[in-house]
Amino acid sequence: MASIEFTSINKAFGDDTVIKDMNLTVKDGSFTVLVGPSGCGKSTTLRMIAGLEKQTSGDIYIGDRLMNDVAPGKRDVAMVFQNYALYPTMTVGGNIEFGLKNRKVPKTERKTLIEEISEIVGLTAYLDKKPQTLSGGQRQRVALARAMVKKPKVFVLDEPLSNLDAKLRHQMRTELVQLHQRLGTTFIYVTHDQVEAMSMADEIVLLNHGEIQQMASPLQMYQHPANLFTAQFIGTPS
Ligand code: ADP
Ligand code: MG
Repeated sequence: MASIEFTSINKAFGDDTVIKDMNLTVKDGSFTVLVGPSGCGKSTTLRMIAGLEKQTSGDIYIGDRLMNDVAPGKRDVAMVFQNYALYPTMTVGGNIEFGLKNRKVPKTERKTLIEEISEIVGLTAYLDKKPQTLSGGQRQRVALARAMVKKPKVFVLDEPLSNLDAKLRHQMRTELVQLHQRLGTTFIYVTHDQVEAMSMADEIVLLNHGEIQQMASPLQMYQHPANLFTAQFIGTPS
């Protein structure tokens, strides 16, 4: 696990500055939720942590490593998306194993890792099945398992539950929080859903137009909203 630090991060696409002077601290081992309206810069922030986008200026640290020029594959960050693409011709086990083969992890070690992780996410009985025979929730677990086998220091999850129906989404929220407790890894979770944020987070980072409005625990934010935007966001009068 590792902490994350942004110091004065700006990100522009052409003339459009979408992240403005962001100073962000994500605590080691926390479940931090990045929340805010559509287009406020949540995905861009995650992609900069993962190294898929480069900031225009400022520094990004993971632990005490300066990440500015570190390639995505070398950051110890695993990313889980909403539109996780599983390989349809491979079994569930094959999908989970794929990233390990690429890293030339020896076969016996791969087998142990897959057993350990499929147990954690409840996929042990499905390892020989093809992805298309699974439910949406099970497929999302495969995507999680595929990220977990790499034993990353940081997990970034970009609206991973938004394609699931309400009941399953609810269940998976609880599962993800339990998974976080079990792994102890730093999780940074993106959602536009205020209820999801308040129910899952240790720490909430509320964004609007590329600027942090407040960074606080759900209780602190509820009791002491920093401004009108925060107050409206959590639905209490200011
Ligand atoms: P969110 O995930 O909060 O919905 P994004 O981080 O995806 O927001 O986008 C933030 C802003 O940056 C939006 O205005 C979006 O249009 C813009 N943006 C994101 N990615 C790109 C890109 N590759 N090129 C140009 N503009 C982009
Ligand atoms: Mg997004």
